[in-house]
Amino acid sequence: MNQKPRIHQSDIIRFNSKILIQDSGCYHFDGCSDKDGYGLFQVDGFRMRAHRFSYIIYNNMQFPADELFVCHTCDNPNCINPNHLFLDTHLGNENDKTQKNRRPKGNELNRSDVLNDDIIYQLIIDIYNNKYSCINEIEFKLGVHRDTISDILKGKTWKHITNQLSVPLQTIKDIVIQKTKLKTKMTGQLILEIKQDLKLGLTQKSISENRNISKSVIGRIYRGETYSHIN
Ligand SMILES: [Zn+2]
Repeated sequence: MNQKPRIHQSDIIRFNSKILIQDSGCYHFDGCSDKDGYGLFQVDGFRMRAHRFSYIIYNNMQFPADELFVCHTCDNPNCINPNHLFLDTHLGNENDKTQKNRRPKGNELNRSDVLNDDIIYQLIIDIYNNKYSCINEIEFKLGVHRDTISDILKGKTWKHITNQLSVPLQTIKDIVIQKTKLKTKMTGQLILEIKQDLKLGLTQKSISENRNISKSVIGRIYRGETYSHIN
């Protein structure tokens, strides 16, 4: 989408004035609708489905690429209750099936061949929708090593997918990395892994980036100033 509507506060007020709250919790959009029953809303010369507008406004996001679909949990196309809306792709259901119960097992940890375009695309959408609170969860769900995920989020791999995003990749990365930083706990296992990384000759900088741990912490481990009892 090259052109994007400019949205003013008056548009939002006008939009909100069309909400009729129903007993079911759905917000009925009291305006025009299309043949499929989706409410239509016009803003800055653009006509769009009202639920899509609602999602975008409520989540304070940029206009998504055309491939990003806003779906209803309530199956009511006219509903614009942001709590009944989520982002998905038409391929999402298939991906759910293939990914279900996947987790890293042994030699699968470093495999990236379990990934495909659809899975990467869904991954980005899921991160954007806050379905993951840290990289570990992605590792667990997709069954690939965190370095593989890290490379995707840095734009090193799967660029043909991430280049299509209407949201900057950095934003996607920040969503999950920032949370990971908050959550990274120095467990014995993690210390051992860091020491192993150091033995393998990885730089402190790369370990820090891959594991979302500050470089100074890695440096202290390297110099034996901390966690020297864990071997
Ligand atoms: Zn609803």
